[in-house]
This record gives sequence, structure tokens and C-alpha cells, in this order.
Amino acid sequence: ARQRKVLMAGNWKMNPASIKEAREMAALLASSLRTIAQDKPGFDVEVVVIPPSPFLHIVADVLSGTVAKIGAQDVHPESKGAFTGEVSTGMLMSMGVSYVLAGHSERRNLFNESDAVVNKKVKAVLASGLSPILCIGESKEEYESGLVKDVCSKQLREGLVGVSAEDLQEKLVIAYEPVWAIGTGLTATPAIAQSVHSYIRSVIKEMYSPEVANAVRIQYGGSVTPESVDELMTCPDIDGCLVGGASLVAEKFSRIFSYQ
Ligand code: PEP
Repeated sequence: ARQRKVLMAGNWKMNPASIKEAREMAALLASSLRTIAQDKPGFDVEVVVIPPSPFLHIVADVLSGTVAKIGAQDVHPESKGAFTGEVSTGMLMSMGVSYVLAGHSERRNLFNESDAVVNKKVKAVLASGLSPILCIGESKEEYESGLVKDVCSKQLREGLVGVSAEDLQEKLVIAYEPVWAIGTGLTATPAIAQSVHSYIRSVIKEMYSPEVANAVRIQYGGSVTPESVDELMTCPDIDGCLVGGASLVAEKFSRIFSYQ
């Protein structure tokens, strides 16, 4: 049996278009989760829904009473003050959030987030008691130049500066998301994903200890679909998926988190 609890997270990104649609999407998921709870008493997958900040409250409300947890897509490292447009960890906590993405490739690439900024966010999230999902992964050019290990190792080491073994073991989740596979329909083959996940675990082992490396959960992300999830989840070092596009369709996301 798997020793790490599987974590399936759906990142809605800047979707859907209205609170009405968000409520409807969450309601479909809630009903699917209720059916699973009835039909599969042993269902033991952690499911996280990550809507845009303005919809956190309604989505948390609609999903309450189901096993789903709520995640946020981003956070500001400071706890309050003159940071127009930003959202703090305390605000997220008060809305029932459990997980916060840090360093999603869209934040890194479109909003110029450096590893240092990502690290600040990771530490702020941990300090507040929430769980960060630290996203790492190489671009297409880096992949083609054989730089996967260098890029992942740098993003990991810089993202984890000052993070304790205990926090890594108990709270922080790593998501390996090759940028060339995000939103492109190109999923890394299970063999490629498994080899990078195993490498990531070896870096954690070197930075921390074999125990921490063994305990940390590593999700795969990048065009995961109902068609690709089952095979990905047979890989021993893949502990769940971070799903973008397919998480916007309740039926698809449900099929993904109830993978076989
Ligand atoms: C993501 O944004 O984290 C992601 C993996 O997106 P998609 O599943 O659409 O590739």
C-alpha cells in the first residue's frame, strides 16, 4: 500500500467567469463527492479545490460537509498593510483555506516571481500554519537542453531556504510541473515523470534526510486528464496530481481523483 496520502488538487486559475458559475461548479463537485462517500467507503484521497480568491468563500461554503479542502492560488508574504490588491495568509485562513500554491509557473513567468519571492511566500504560508504547494518545473527549452535536474534542483533549494524538516514532512507539498506540459495537452510520460519525481526525492534526501524524502508528497502536474491519470498514479513517487484544465469540468476532475 502507498505510504503517503494521495493529494489531488484542481487549480481553476482565472476561471470561471462569475460567482454563479463558481457556485454551480462547486455544487457539481460536492454532489460527486457525496456519491463517492456513499459508494466507496474506503475512499482515502485528499481532494483540494483551488478557485480564484474572490470565489474562495462561496466554494468553501458549497463544499463544506464534503471531504474537499480549499486552496488558494497565491498569497502575499506580508501579514497586512499597504499592499494594494494583495491577499494575506490570515485572510485565506479565515475563509477556510488549507493549501496555498507557491511558485506556479504562471506566477513565475507572467508575474516575474523569482525563487526568492516564492521562498518568502512558502515561509509565510508555513508560519501561518497553512500548507504550501511549492510548484517547480522546467521550460520547454530547458527540457530540450537537458537541464531538467539543474532547474528542479535550483528551484527546490531556493524555494526551501529556511524550511524545517518538520514542515517539509508534515505540511509542504511539492508539485513537479514541467512547463511544456501545462495547458498544452502534452503530458510527461509516466516514465519521465517518475524519473524526475525520484530525482526530486533524492535532492530532498540530500538536503534533509531519508525520512523526510520518504514522507514528502510530490504531485505531478501538466495536462493531467481522466485518460492519463491512472497510469501516472501507478508510479511509486507520484503522490497525486495538480490539475488545471480538467479540474474545470466536475465530471473529469471527479474521474481524476477517483483514479483506479
Ligand atoms: C496547472 O496549471 O497547474 C496545470 C497543470 O494545468 P493543466 O492541467 O491545464 O496543464
